[in-house]
Amino acid sequence: MSFFEVYDPVFGQYVMGNAPVKQLATGFDWVEGPVWFGDAGCLLFSDIPNNRIMRWTPDADVTTYRAPSNYANGHTRDRQGRLISCEHGQRRVTRTELDGSLTVIADRHDGKPLNSPNDVVVKSDGSIWFSDPHYGIMTNYEGFASEQENPCVVYRADPETGALDVVVDDMNCPNGLAFSPDESLLYVADTGRMFSDDPQHIRVYDVTDDSVANGRHFHTIDPGAADGIRADSDGNLWSSAADGVHCIASDGRLLGKILVPELVSNICFGGRAKHELYITATTSVYRVILNRRGVQVP
Ligand code: MG
Repeated sequence: MSFFEVYDPVFGQYVMGNAPVKQLATGFDWVEGPVWFGDAGCLLFSDIPNNRIMRWTPDADVTTYRAPSNYANGHTRDRQGRLISCEHGQRRVTRTELDGSLTVIADRHDGKPLNSPNDVVVKSDGSIWFSDPHYGIMTNYEGFASEQENPCVVYRADPETGALDVVVDDMNCPNGLAFSPDESLLYVADTGRMFSDDPQHIRVYDVTDDSVANGRHFHTIDPGAADGIRADSDGNLWSSAADGVHCIASDGRLLGKILVPELVSNICFGGRAKHELYITATTSVYRVILNRRGVQVP
């Protein structure tokens, strides 16, 4: 069996026929938010329903990094390498300082609590961009069931000034997000309201310093929905999907698929050359080594 489906010959150069989609760890309930720490030689990821962040190392050691995690979901690192986390439970985005303490980046907008920050990216100017759909407050499974008080939007937080501004407000439920390599574009996945006819698409926006403009359709994922997304150094976008990970060219064409046996939630690049793709998928974490490099900070 092949781990890959090739729709454009260029994708055949991105994958290697003898590089497996390997299960690294399993036994979780809903894994999300993979983030690579090259300096520590480990991958962190969330096991959201079990209220913990896990740590995997290449010698196959899996330990608990933080529990309780306030039902953390997506993570990234800022330009100083610090962990930035979305928390459903406290309805906030935090930064983990080098001494282990947590700094709240954002927890309210318009005087009302955020919904349940889901995924996050940091721009090269240090600003923190995150999505705030309502999934984490719909039930008690991934946090605490609560009333939604703010719309489902994407925010830009300035950690220097504390300013929090809405940058994307034309989606049903914004989820994963990624900048293009030169940060001229912002991609945002919309997973829509559950059990609705909302489109399962990715939209792309022109980045205009502190905001975005000219939002337009980029790609519709099939089957399933785009949750986590990441760009590679050539400007392709890699997206989670129901059958695995899809690689989409910058013009929106599907180039190929990495087939994964569980529903994929999110992905990140890591490893020595940023050429390893880590995949969180329902109960397990998988990895496939690619002939492609991810865009990743720091
Ligand atoms: Mg997500």
